[in-house]
Amino acid sequence: MNKMGFGFLRLPKLGPQDDTSIDYELLNRMVDAFLEAGGSYFDTAYTYLSGESESALRKSLVERHPRSSYRVATKLPSWKVKCEEDNERYFKEQQERCGLDYFDVYLLHWLNAKNYEIAEKYHEFAFMSRLKAEGKVGAIGFSYHDSAELLHEILTKHPEVDYVQLQLNYLDWDSPSVQAQLCYETAVKHGKKVLVMEPVKGGTLAEIPAEAAAAFAELDPTLTPAQWALRFAQSLPEVEIVLSGMNSMEQMAENMQDVPLMNEQELAACGKAREIIRSQTAIPCTACGYCAGNCPKKIAIPQYFKLYNEYARNHNDDWKIQPVYDALCKTYGKASDCIGCLQCERNCPQKIQITHWLKETAKALE
Ligand code: SF4
Ligand code: SF4
Repeated sequence: MNKMGFGFLRLPKLGPQDDTSIDYELLNRMVDAFLEAGGSYFDTAYTYLSGESESALRKSLVERHPRSSYRVATKLPSWKVKCEEDNERYFKEQQERCGLDYFDVYLLHWLNAKNYEIAEKYHEFAFMSRLKAEGKVGAIGFSYHDSAELLHEILTKHPEVDYVQLQLNYLDWDSPSVQAQLCYETAVKHGKKVLVMEPVKGGTLAEIPAEAAAAFAELDPTLTPAQWALRFAQSLPEVEIVLSGMNSMEQMAENMQDVPLMNEQELAACGKAREIIRSQTAIPCTACGYCAGNCPKKIAIPQYFKLYNEYARNHNDDWKIQPVYDALCKTYGKASDCIGCLQCERNCPQKIQITHWLKETAKALE
């Protein structure tokens, strides 16, 4: 069984901090390998990679492969819409960027309480339904970051949507802030198919503590931690696609292996791994980068949080972590440069208290 989709949020880059420096030689090989391995679903969005993702999809996929060999999903940046005409304007721009007249799936991006208000104000659901009726998109839905209660309210008011895209992985399954299980069950109750984002939680579940890895290895030492995470999401019956942001051929090969559904014993191992990881991960950051774009001090928030988590796991590693932090501080603002404007926290889908953790990072690493 393989439900993998190719997510275009994180792509191979020549300059790690430069979203425009996409490594097309490698990306093209990965797109070819994905299609050859039986994959067909590609997911992008207007805002991914500072706007470069949709163009990258055109260059690496649309201009190089027949239209019948793939499906494309993209997303309307719901929070950027300032008037009803913007819906059409963004859609046309997306058609041009992607080089496509038709999208197989069209989603409202990042619905939460605030963005849902905007979506209602500017009739974004009605706009998507019109696109579907006109044959410009095949199916409609939204990507979602809020409570199961609000999800129920939205789906009750908008039964017309086909898909809900959820952050779903074994670590967030019973998380009170992400509510992955509750959101999944709500979507299923409303008869919706589920698209999964962050199955490996931005790479967090690919590099897990040794004790957590041991819980999996006892059952099958041949699978990597990332494969266990992908299997968890793929094993949920109403999940149609599991998106993975791949940036190497090795990851591609790993992700595209056929994997069996999880049994009870394996699901229990996920629970055990979850408790171990939670006890050793201070900041549940997925490295999505939504926080950093508007920071007036240009603080490298996700990079610093990754370093802080490593430091919190093992203080003895500070001799390795410190030079990386110092090097980043030459290009970006330091953690202690934060002025507490809260622009970042408003944008964090994980609801992380970024300002608090930056203070802790500064204490530990400056
Ligand atoms: S609160 Fe701090 S980290 Fe967040 S956007 Fe403002 S200055 Fe940047
Ligand atoms: S702090 Fe939040 S918004 Fe920033 S990268 Fe981490 S999860 Fe994403």
